[in-house]
Amino acid sequence: MRDKLLEIYDKLFERYSNQYWWPAATKEEVVIGAVLTQNTSWANVEKAVENLKQQGVCSFEGIYKINIEQLKIYIKPAGFFNQKAEYLKNTAKFFLENGSINGLKKRDTKILREKLLKIKGVGKETADSILLYALDKPVFVVDAYTKRLIERHNLSKNTDYDSIQRLFEENLKKDTALFNEFHALIVKNAKEFCTKKPRCNGCPLEGV
Ligand code: SF4
Repeated sequence: MRDKLLEIYDKLFERYSNQYWWPAATKEEVVIGAVLTQNTSWANVEKAVENLKQQGVCSFEGIYKINIEQLKIYIKPAGFFNQKAEYLKNTAKFFLENGSINGLKKRDTKILREKLLKIKGVGKETADSILLYALDKPVFVVDAYTKRLIERHNLSKNTDYDSIQRLFEENLKKDTALFNEFHALIVKNAKEFCTKKPRCNGCPLEGV
């Protein structure tokens, strides 16, 4: 399996090269984007983040202090704004109370993941995106695109979140840079070729 996963990575990297994820100006913005991106497209997240930036509140401090009704208005483009405003508030509070990005980076990954998952509004994919892209921890992020790839290439019988994550983490070196790039490349290829209706002809993973 290790060789198969590395073959996939190599073919994707050869085609697309570096993706330079996560697309955000600061690590705090990564966390905010990870919460906002639940059940919506990235284009909608960008609009919400832009509103927060224009208001000078695209930070933990800004989110924590702003009136929640005002916050709902700014993040409206990302959808589910009532819930997401609450989720952002919870997440910002957690970070501010626990040493923010630099403080949390020093903590053990497993314990940190458990703590993140206890925040109302932070599920596995959000927690792992925060761990990998904001806190530089070697955790593989599984999303619908990853699941689709695994299923379409018959790489695992079990395609629940934890099984797919274990598939990557147990077969590859636990390397933050590798996991960062690999996930980003899977997303890129899913948008280019592995769409709802796959376009295998010309896909870099054709025949893999
Ligand atoms: S488009 Fe086809 S070849 Fe490409 S990743 Fe999807 S299933 Fe595989």
